[in-house]
Amino acid sequence: MADFVGAVDQGTTSTRFMIFDHAGNEVAKHQLEHAQILPQSGWVEHDPVEIWERTNSVIQNALRHGNLSPADLAAIGITNQRETTVVWDPRNGRPYYNAIVWQDTRTDSIAAALDRSGQGDVIRRKAGLPPATYFSGGKIQWILENVDGVREAAEQGHAIFGNTDCWVLWNLTGGPDGGIHATDVTNASRTMLMDLESLDWDDELLGFFGIPRAMLPTIHSSSHPTAFGVTRTSRPLRAAIPIAGVLGDQQAATVGQVCYAPGEAKNTYGTGNFLVLNTGTELVRSQHGLLTTVAYRFGDEPAVYALEGSIAVTGSAVQWLRDQMKIITDAAESERLARTVEDNGGMYFVPAFSGLFAPYWRSDARGAIVGLARYNDSGHLARATLEAICYQSRDVVEAMEQDSGVHLDVLKVDGGVTANDLCMQIQADVLGVPVSRPVVAETTALGAAYAAGLATGFWRDTDELRTHWQESKRWEPQWSEEKRAEGYEGWKKAVARTLDWATVE
Ligand code: ADP
Repeated sequence: MADFVGAVDQGTTSTRFMIFDHAGNEVAKHQLEHAQILPQSGWVEHDPVEIWERTNSVIQNALRHGNLSPADLAAIGITNQRETTVVWDPRNGRPYYNAIVWQDTRTDSIAAALDRSGQGDVIRRKAGLPPATYFSGGKIQWILENVDGVREAAEQGHAIFGNTDCWVLWNLTGGPDGGIHATDVTNASRTMLMDLESLDWDDELLGFFGIPRAMLPTIHSSSHPTAFGVTRTSRPLRAAIPIAGVLGDQQAATVGQVCYAPGEAKNTYGTGNFLVLNTGTELVRSQHGLLTTVAYRFGDEPAVYALEGSIAVTGSAVQWLRDQMKIITDAAESERLARTVEDNGGMYFVPAFSGLFAPYWRSDARGAIVGLARYNDSGHLARATLEAICYQSRDVVEAMEQDSGVHLDVLKVDGGVTANDLCMQIQADVLGVPVSRPVVAETTALGAAYAAGLATGFWRDTDELRTHWQESKRWEPQWSEEKRAEGYEGWKKAVARTLDWATVE
């Protein structure tokens, strides 16, 4: 009997395979990191071949650790780092270039030109996104323009594009031997190329970037019994398992956190932070710097939309304390160091390393540490780093309340940083709203498993999934109104100092 569902979580720093039972409990997992390739300032790449090899290994290892065989899996879901762009030759599976990662800013002049020409407003209206280096469209254009032979190959159907969901799916379903070139609506909604209403690639948008339509995958619902095919009996599964769910990582976490009703939201704290608010089947256009995106689409039901606040640097600021500043040796130590001080001692740190995403969308911003006095020490810097994670989330929550009129009663959280108890307490204090973390912290993989399991009848409906969600910990706000207002005012002043720093041609 196939009593389990598997999920590939192809993330920014690592790839995981996780296996869940009927109650949504984790029964096995394996995770492997891949190299972060940083050829020059602002550039971030991954090797797609390494990612595919890691995917193979984690699937095999997770099955082994769980003492399971592929036949125990009823279905598989795929979730992925969104926007990261792979272009490859479908005849042999060879990438033309490394994957250009979502954090990469090499396309800043492409993004700036879109706004100068007025095309930016068309992208905002049709795709729900501000033109930015973040999304895939400019990254595909860059590869077409800068890698020898790719444009000609694309015109002949010998160069195809996908985000890493699509790359993994194509390889799992046979690669050069009939691999399926498809993606889901949530991933497609992050390219600047899909019309949010028709849920199809848009010729006008493709024209802005000079991208031939033939390069693009077919867009399907996020949860579908047959559209994504089955795994091949060659490696790594040696069995034909249906791949029945595909979702971008933040949308998958929204599904895993059972945010199925309009007004329900989750905030994921990983490399960056991503707050997603379900707005139902209504498309809410942001006036306050958020993205309009697809939350998920199950089968033939209408798409469910979301407002999203994406923050580029949160957990990665903690990595910066470890790797660049060398004031901590592991991420958890940020909490111990921050606890050596009472408060931030007047210090604010805005980690705008590659500009600011939501709600500012300023590629000219650069990081700043302000308010320094002679007495400040590394404890204050650690504390200011944790506060920066929380204040950036407050910026996004404020924008969300203004756009949607929804006032959060509680913030559901997940992701690596939520292991930091102090950071979560500061988050409750800074927002004045309780913060709640579920028992299953791996909501991203869980959401992809849910999408696959719903499509194949492993789970009946979303009401059943709701019964799985259980709180493991809650943080209540403790600051006074006055302290909250004062702290936020300091943050806003600090953000203002970071703007207009870098020049973008
Ligand atoms: P991703 O899926 O983006 O790779 P994860 O959810 O695995 O991210 O979280 C990893 C991030 O969490 C890293 O940036 C790391 O610095 C941060 N992190 C992990 N543990 C802690 C901790 N105890 N305190 C603060 N940050 C942490």
